[in-house]
Amino acid sequence: MRNRIEYLEGLNLHRPLNATLPSILPKERRAMSSSAHIPADLPAPTIEEVSDGIFAYIQLDGSWFLNNAGCIRGKRSATVIDSTGTEARARAFHAAVRKVTDLPVSVLVNTHSHGDHTHGNFMFAPESAIIGHQRCRREMLAAGNAAMVLFPMVDFGDCPLEPPTVTFSDRLNLYVDDLEVQLIFVGPAHTTNDIVAWIPERRLLFAGDVVFNGGTPFALGGSIGGWLDALDVIEALAPERIVPGHGLVCGPEVLPTIRAYLEFMFESARRGIEAGIDPLALARDLDLGPFAELLDPERLVPNLHRAYAELRGEPRGKPLDGARMFHEMLEYNGGQPLRCLA
Ligand SMILES: [Zn+2]
Repeated sequence: MRNRIEYLEGLNLHRPLNATLPSILPKERRAMSSSAHIPADLPAPTIEEVSDGIFAYIQLDGSWFLNNAGCIRGKRSATVIDSTGTEARARAFHAAVRKVTDLPVSVLVNTHSHGDHTHGNFMFAPESAIIGHQRCRREMLAAGNAAMVLFPMVDFGDCPLEPPTVTFSDRLNLYVDDLEVQLIFVGPAHTTNDIVAWIPERRLLFAGDVVFNGGTPFALGGSIGGWLDALDVIEALAPERIVPGHGLVCGPEVLPTIRAYLEFMFESARRGIEAGIDPLALARDLDLGPFAELLDPERLVPNLHRAYAELRGEPRGKPLDGARMFHEMLEYNGGQPLRCLA
């Protein structure tokens, strides 16, 4: 069942975080500021043609804020799918798009509202129509660039907020010349506002963060149950290739791991509720088994909070206390800041 959400859906990143998060970061991290350049110990982002005239922009290692994007080159104009998370990365992505096409970028699609996929929208505005779910626009306007406070070690540069200018609620078909791109709402899953871009003729799916390849799923702002439903939708499409929101281009073989992780969240939360322990205590005790290999394992804590909330019957996508969730992720990490290489 989809739920009507009143105002700020998903992650509430307003004042509480600004007020409290920096105080629990170690002093030296607070004072640290990286240069606006891409760290040398990471591979440079790549743009690869995944189907004729369709490109995936891949930023490894796919951990926090290192997202993927895409570009569909038509005959008269191009469509871009998502942007990137910092000013420097936005400029690099724009330059990569310009390497594969000099046509006008008439459309930018945002798969969801998170800053790693939307901060760089400004590089395409106002020339490009920015298309996203109606809740994507609402959440971006409500949260602004508040996610930046979570990663004080990152130099985000200047990323003026550019939310979607065209929104929809369920489905929207987009045509790049004759090529049909189906935008399908599958949320709440990773967020309240996840859409996937499905290109049936090529059996190619731009999945946004409903698919992490090698990263821990992150359901803080979305829904565990809704995400499982979203996986059903994706499996029914039967994509041959998937451009995930993070990690290498893949196929449907990555989907069972995501499903198993989400089911593991529900099973663990059920045991935690029975035992009367809170999600953080449960997380500390939990053997992640094969999921320990996934990047950013601390997402376990908000994922368990989300699972607890849903098992208690709370609506999918109902905002959790974002400040508390991030505090608890740091606690789970022994007080260390989140590892973010953006
Ligand atoms: Zn995301």
